Amino acid sequence: MNNVSNAIKKLLKTLLFLSLFLSFIALGQSERQPSEGIYYEIFVRSFQDSDGDGIGDFQGIIQRLDYLEDLGISGIWLMPIHPSPNYHGYDVSDYYALNPDYGTMADFQKFLDEAQARGISVIIDLVVNHSSVEHPWFKAANAGDPQYRDYYLWSETDLGWRGVSGAPAWHQGRDGYYLGLFWSGMPDLNYRNPAVVEKMNDIAKFWLELGVDGFRVDAIQHIVESEDGLIRNTPDNLAWVRNFEAFIKTVNPQAFIVGETWTDSDTIVKYHQEANLDMSFNYPLFDALISSIQKRNPSNLKFVLEQDEQLYPSNALRGIFISNHDQIRPATSLSFLKPDPQRSKLAAALMFTLPGIPFMYYGEEIGLPNGPGDRDEEKRTPMRWNEDEYAGFSSVEPWYSFSTEDPGISVAAQQNRPDSLLNWYKQLIALRNTNPALERGKLTVLESGERSVLAFSRELNEQRLLILANFASSAKEIDLSTLTETFLPRDLLSGNMQPDKLSLPPLGLMVLDVSSELDTAAASKYVQFARVWAAPDILLGQ
Ligand code: CA
Repeated sequence: MNNVSNAIKKLLKTLLFLSLFLSFIALGQSERQPSEGIYYEIFVRSFQDSDGDGIGDFQGIIQRLDYLEDLGISGIWLMPIHPSPNYHGYDVSDYYALNPDYGTMADFQKFLDEAQARGISVIIDLVVNHSSVEHPWFKAANAGDPQYRDYYLWSETDLGWRGVSGAPAWHQGRDGYYLGLFWSGMPDLNYRNPAVVEKMNDIAKFWLELGVDGFRVDAIQHIVESEDGLIRNTPDNLAWVRNFEAFIKTVNPQAFIVGETWTDSDTIVKYHQEANLDMSFNYPLFDALISSIQKRNPSNLKFVLEQDEQLYPSNALRGIFISNHDQIRPATSLSFLKPDPQRSKLAAALMFTLPGIPFMYYGEEIGLPNGPGDRDEEKRTPMRWNEDEYAGFSSVEPWYSFSTEDPGISVAAQQNRPDSLLNWYKQLIALRNTNPALERGKLTVLESGERSVLAFSRELNEQRLLILANFASSAKEIDLSTLTETFLPRDLLSGNMQPDKLSLPPLGLMVLDVSSELDTAAASKYVQFARVWAAPDILLGQ
C-alpha cells in the first residue's frame, strides 16, 4: 500500500515537474525572472535632469524609459538613492528616505510602477557595511548614547588595522576610536549586535514591500570583520550573507541580491556555495576581457572562461560586465592614441555572447569616455542625449562637466547611423533576448588554432551556436569546410550565410548558427568540428 502511494506520489511529482517545465518553456521571455535578462546601471545624478537644477532625478529616468525599453534591457540597477552628504551616495544618512535631489517618494513609486509595467525590474544599491557619520545612529553612538553605542565598533586605542585601501581603519571619535574600513566618514556598522542585523533586515523589507526587485549589496566582502583584524570574507561575513539571503526570501521569494564580489574566483564561488548568494559580479572575467582586448590576445580570457565552467555551481548567477561606476570607461581604456569604437564593439559582443547576466553601465552604449583626470566623478559624468547645449541632459549647466564635447557621442547622433555603437548594442541585445542558448546555454571553449581568435560554443536544447571572435587588428581566414561539405552556417549578426572559408574581420565577432540538421549525425559532426578546432594542424592540413 505504502509503496503504491509512494509510486503515485512520485508520478504526480514527475507530472508536476513536467508541467512546470513545459509552462516555463511556453512562457518564454516575457515571464523572465527578475534575476534574468539584461541589466542597466544608472547613476541617477547623471542620467536625466527633469526640473532644471542640473541634477538627474527619478522623473528624468521616467522620461527615458521609452529609450531603455527600446534598447531591450529588462532590469535597472540604481546606484544609491538615499540621502547622503556625498554626491555618490555611498554613505547613507537615512535608509528610509530618498535623496531630495532625486525626487520624492511619489516620484520614486511612479518610476517603479512605470518601469515594472514595461517588464523592467528595478534593484537598488544597499549600502550595508557602513552608514554616514551624519546618520542619527552614529551621531548618538559618538555622543555615548548607550542604546546606539554598539551599533558601531569602538576601541579605546587605535588597533592599527588597515582598511580597504591600506589606510588606517580606526578613527578618533569623541570618546575612543571607531572602525571605518573605507574612510572616517563611513563608520562600519556592528553586525555582531543583533539589533543592527534586525534594523538592516527591516530596511530591506521596507524597500522590497515598496516594490523593488532586489539589491546590489555594496562592499559585500567587508560586512563582518574578525575580532583580530581580518577585514575580508570572514566566516561570520559569509554567515551574514546567508542569513540576509534567507531573510529577503521570506519577504519576497523572487527577490534577489547581487554582491559586489570584487575578488578572486575561488572566493566568489564560496559566496555561492556557502552563503547561497544569488548573483555575483564576475570581476576576474571583467579584468580578463578588457586586458585580452588591450593585448590583442584572448589567452587569459580563455583560461578564465574554462576555469569558471569548472568552479561555479550550475545555479550560480554570474553578472558579466565591461564597465561600472568604479572602472575607467571602456571607450577610454580600450582606445590607444585615438578613439577606437571597434574595440568597444568587440567588448560588448563578448559581454552579450558569453555566459552570465549582462550589466551595462549608462553611456557605455554610446561610447561615453572617461573625463580627464583621476577623480571617480570622471567615470560618472552626465549622459549625452543629443547635440543641444547641455546635451539634452539638462536645461542648465550640469552638476559636473561632460566628459566629451564630441557631437557624435550622443544618443541622437547614433540613433540613425546604422554602424553606430548604439545600434550595435541594440542588435546584440536583440540577439541575446531571442536566442536562449546565449542566455542560458552551456559554454564550451574551443581551440581555434589561431592565437588571436577565441572560439566557443553555446548550447541549449536544440540550439547550438558557434562564436568566433578575432582580437587581432587584421582579418583572419577561418576554414569551416571540415564541418560538412554542404553546410553553410548563418551569421546571426549579419544575417549572411558564411562560405566554408570565412574571413573574420579585424576585431570582429560572428555568431554562427550550427544547430541546423539536428540529428545524431549532425551532432557528431559538430563534435568532430570541435575536435578539429582542437587540432590546428589538421585544420591547416585540409
Ligand atoms: Ca533635477
